[in-house]
Amino acid sequence: MNAILPEAPTREDKTVSTLLEAMPYIQSFWGSTIVVKYGGAAMTSRRLQAEFARDIVLLKLVGMRPIVVHGGGPQVTDMLHRLGMDAKFVRGHRVTDEETMEVAKMVLIGKVNKDLVGLVHRHGGTAVGLSGEDGQLLVTDRLAHRDENGEPIDIGLVGSIREVNTAVLDLLAEGAIPIVASIGSDENGQAYNVNADTAAGALAAALDAEKLVLLTDVAGVLAPEGEGERLVSECTLPELDALEASGVVTGGMVPKVAAVRTALQGGVHSAHIVDGTVDHALLLEVLTDSGCGTKVVP
Ligand code: ADP
Ligand code: MG
Repeated sequence: MNAILPEAPTREDKTVSTLLEAMPYIQSFWGSTIVVKYGGAAMTSRRLQAEFARDIVLLKLVGMRPIVVHGGGPQVTDMLHRLGMDAKFVRGHRVTDEETMEVAKMVLIGKVNKDLVGLVHRHGGTAVGLSGEDGQLLVTDRLAHRDENGEPIDIGLVGSIREVNTAVLDLLAEGAIPIVASIGSDENGQAYNVNADTAAGALAAALDAEKLVLLTDVAGVLAPEGEGERLVSECTLPELDALEASGVVTGGMVPKVAAVRTALQGGVHSAHIVDGTVDHALLLEVLTDSGCGTKVVP
């Protein structure tokens, strides 16, 4: 994006030029919704969590409407170990049984969510923590999971999103930043674990967000090139589909690509997969010319 200003500052002043560089972004994104998925490695360090919270407060202060969706798989696993509970597997697939779901709710909603709320407050923002159960924000069904061979496999209380009801977010005061734990529920109040990438993509689509930003622990979407790999810094959805069809998208990147697709097909203007372990990756991606991850446009 080109700066609207007539001239760059004559004095070599990095601070001023950084602010000026952000200006056209602030102008074009003022008042627009940005859904940010936070999780994985970027979440395990207290320092990165605090920096993330600060970035979110800054985005809010310059007029955007950030909404945070978080997971916390490693924290749930950690608590299961502390409670002496073993992760259960069926044919190599992790199963969320009733007890695991109970711990997941306690950790994600009771701890991870409130820690993030507290960090936002520490940096002068106002946050309200919710889960997808509140106001039936994320109505889910039990996920009909299939293994690699296409065989149905019961992995327990894992949800697929059927419906998103954003009305509960309208109840929040204008200044509040919603922070959503990715747990959904069905009409009977049964809770399900929902992949946080999936939840963020669905929420971005339902909110007609300007952007979806998925913070992760890799630079973005990587594709093989020669002996090594290259970062796909910008591509269209059909290009991303082609990459996926060629088999380079695996593991944890699969739900991210699916979330990008849901968001863009739902009217979101751009989706970004960014390395959250890089300091202030979120600000760099949203407010500067030097965006660092993968940007996907329709
Ligand atoms: P998060 O906790 O942020 O959701 P995940 O581990 O679930 O992170 O997903 C990111 C991981 O996806 C990467 O660390 C990488 O191992 C894997 N991955 C699979 N295919 C790709 C790809 N084409 N480009 C980048 N990462 C990929
Ligand atoms: Mg993941």
